[in-house]
Order: sequence, then structure tokens, then C-alpha cells
Amino acid sequence: MLVASTENGVRICLIGSHSIPALQQYREHHNFYCPECKEKVIMKIGKKRIPHFSHRKGSECPERYERETEYHMSGKVLLFQWLKKKGLNPILEPFYPEISQRPDIDVHYEGVHYALEYQCSNISEELFIKRTEAYLKTGIVPIWILAGKSIKRMGKAKISLSGFQYLFLRQAASGHWVIPSFCPTTKSFINIHHIQPLTVRNACAHYDVKPISQADPAILFTPYFKNDINLDEWKREVRKIKNSLSQNSGAIRNNFLQDLYSRSIAPALLPPEIGLPVRHSPYIETSPIQWQSYLFMDIVGKARPFSLPQMIAAFRSRVKNNDIKIRSIPLVQTGSEIHAIKEYLDVLINLNIVKHAEKGLYKKTALSGEPEHYSRIIQIEDDFYRGITQRILQGK
Ligand SMILES: [Zn+2]
Repeated sequence: MLVASTENGVRICLIGSHSIPALQQYREHHNFYCPECKEKVIMKIGKKRIPHFSHRKGSECPERYERETEYHMSGKVLLFQWLKKKGLNPILEPFYPEISQRPDIDVHYEGVHYALEYQCSNISEELFIKRTEAYLKTGIVPIWILAGKSIKRMGKAKISLSGFQYLFLRQAASGHWVIPSFCPTTKSFINIHHIQPLTVRNACAHYDVKPISQADPAILFTPYFKNDINLDEWKREVRKIKNSLSQNSGAIRNNFLQDLYSRSIAPALLPPEIGLPVRHSPYIETSPIQWQSYLFMDIVGKARPFSLPQMIAAFRSRVKNNDIKIRSIPLVQTGSEIHAIKEYLDVLINLNIVKHAEKGLYKKTALSGEPEHYSRIIQIEDDFYRGITQRILQGK
């Protein structure tokens, strides 16, 4: 940590214009205390590391559970100096006694009070949610910033995200998903946006890299992205997954595959309308190929008309049965998996796969039989994606 109090309660921040000899001299004449647990802490000034305060061995301060690495500290310092240079009056490591929390940086931007948490180590989901809720209750908007080095990039437009990293998801004003991240080594912001889950871990995404020296504060607080999802990429990835599911037919313990085979459906022959990206799909941990297949099996693909509430009920019973898992997105309190189901129905209507029947009911249009040949499904898929546009996907 970079901030402590002296015996007189004076706040001392190690980032600033103090020279090393000045700090050493100051250390001779003062004791330092942790603002959080009030224990005595040690000012460490070495040649390699950034000067910092450290608790003594055996300390029970919650701060100690997050041993800050050099990477973390240097990132925090760069972010702080950048905000300061932008004239935003940030406060480094403020302590909020009413919630007993100490984010990395406190800052106001365009009338909103933010707490920045530059999180470089894993903490439990419970702790993440607890801290987030405490901030929100106090009227502070937390922004959790991921350590750039922990990003597992899988090519130009793909990423592997852990459950922990998914917690960082924010929604830009434009409605687009974004995980903000920062890397002190390359001194750059990396905004991961347009995140569209393919499987539990893998997702299609865009990367927006900006050196901090050229970055405007909006990059962090109110990011804006203009690209849309890359449909060619999406189509390729979904095809790969369907093919690999077919090759996994030996793994019959998989409930999803069992469900498909018991209905004589080969995963590779699943039609292209199963496995589509919808805006709120990050609320569902299970692959879209899987949750959309279940909706077809249970409701949409049947001959009788159905309603949206029936779709939702079928989805919920799959959740209850553990066939579908929901994901919590603590930083966004306005959406849910129900939005994803509604959006999926809208896309099916836009694509003419489902049409309005009598009041409040829908019906699948032509109940085409399963294509029997792989080459045929590939052709259908190509035609399908040729006709699909962002407008159809987003209902605009
Ligand atoms: Zn402490």
C-alpha cells in the first residue's frame, strides 16, 4: 500500500515529489499506521521496488490478504498520475470508514463518484459482490479494472475468460459489454468489448488498445465502441463447436449430448438458428448453442404455438435441472437472462423462423426436417449468414 497515517493522524502518500533521502529522513522521525486496521506499518524504501508501506508479519489486516505485487502498485501509480494530469483530483487509497473499504483510487468524473479497483489477484466471488454492493449502497460506482497480463487472448477476435474475469463486465452507455483492463508494462488500456460468449470460457470479443499517454478519461469512465460483432468470425467459431461436439460422441456422460442423441439429432447438423449471439447472452454461463438447443427441444421446435412466458418457464426448468447455468454480473443491475430469451425470440421472428400466431402466441414457420448431410447443412448455414445482418440481430 502507498498511503498510511502518522502518529498525529497525518495522511502520508508515497507518490509525489518526495525524494528517496527525504522519505528516509521522514521515516527516522515518525511512526506509520494502517488507515484500515490501525496497526503499525513499515515504510519500505528499496532500490528495486516502488516505496510502499507494509504490515508486519502475522498481521490480521484484511489488506494483507492481497499482497500487492510490483505490477499492481506500478499500475495503480500510473492510473493515479494519469487522472491527476487530467485535472480530476483523484485520491489514492482513500479509506471509507462507513463501509471499511479502501479502493485503489477515488475520483469524480462528470458528476459521478467512482471507486477504482485495480484487481490483479483473484478474490472470491462473494467478496467481489460484497464490495461492489457496499460501494453502490454508498452512492459510489465501482469500476473493476483487470490486470492486462491476465488476459488470455486467443487470436484477433477471441478470448478465454474465467468466471472471475466475467465479474468485471460493465455496460457502456451504448449498451455494449466491456471489461476494462490496464497493463503497466505496456502502459496501455485494453478495453475488451462486444463480448459474446461461445462456450463457458471462450467468447468472441474486440480489443481496443490505447496507450495511457494518449488516453482520454472517457476510455475508462464512458467508453464508446463503434464496431459490431464480426459475424464471419462468429459463424466459424460456432461451426467449430458443433463439429467438435459431434466428435465427442464417445463422452456420453454429457447430458446435453445425451439429450440430442435421444432425439436423433447430430450436433454437427444443428441448424444455424441455434447458436446466435444476443445482447444479454453473458447472463447465461452455458453455451448459446446449448441453451438455444434446449429452447428448441422444449418449446420452439414443437408443432404447437407457444408464448414467451412458456419459453421462460421451459428455460427456468432447465436451470433448475442444472442443464443451464446463470451467471451473475454484479456491476450491471438492469439486465438478466430473461432479456436474452426475449431477444432470441425477437431474432427468430426477424429471421422468419418463428411467426406470430394468435394473440401473444408464436409458431415455428415451416417445420423443416433435419438435413441429413453435412454438406447440405453447411450450404444452409452459408445462405443463412449471408441473409443475416446486425439489424436482424439487434432488432433495430
Ligand atoms: Zn491494516
